[in-house]
Amino acid sequence: MPDAKGRVWCSRCKRHVGVFDDTEHERFRALYVEGVQAVKAFRERTGAPLSEVSFKTLFAPMYRAYAEFGGDSEVIAEEVLKHQRGRFGPPCATCGLELQSSRANWCIGCGARRKR
Ligand SMILES: [Zn+2]
Ligand SMILES: [Zn+2]
Repeated sequence: MPDAKGRVWCSRCKRHVGVFDDTEHERFRALYVEGVQAVKAFRERTGAPLSEVSFKTLFAPMYRAYAEFGGDSEVIAEEVLKHQRGRFGPPCATCGLELQSSRANWCIGCGARRKR
């Protein structure tokens, strides 16, 4: 069940995450691409290894947009793109946890089969 901020449970992130509509997905993809380019530019400029890159800083525009949807910068940038509302299924009829994909046949929370 979505929490008070409308966030849903993501089994990959193991936390409640902000989700956005399909129409917003394009925007997040563009912001993600910007972030990737910022990382590339930073590494070319400094020669820093990936381990020294501050993704939170370089992906800041994406995280700012994500905050509007209750998202936070603890979610890795690539994973943000997967938090499209349409990718999640409806809440489980037994325990209320969102099915983790629109095609999921069972609930990862309680193991109940999906009622159709
Ligand atoms: Zn996730
Ligand atoms: Zn369940």
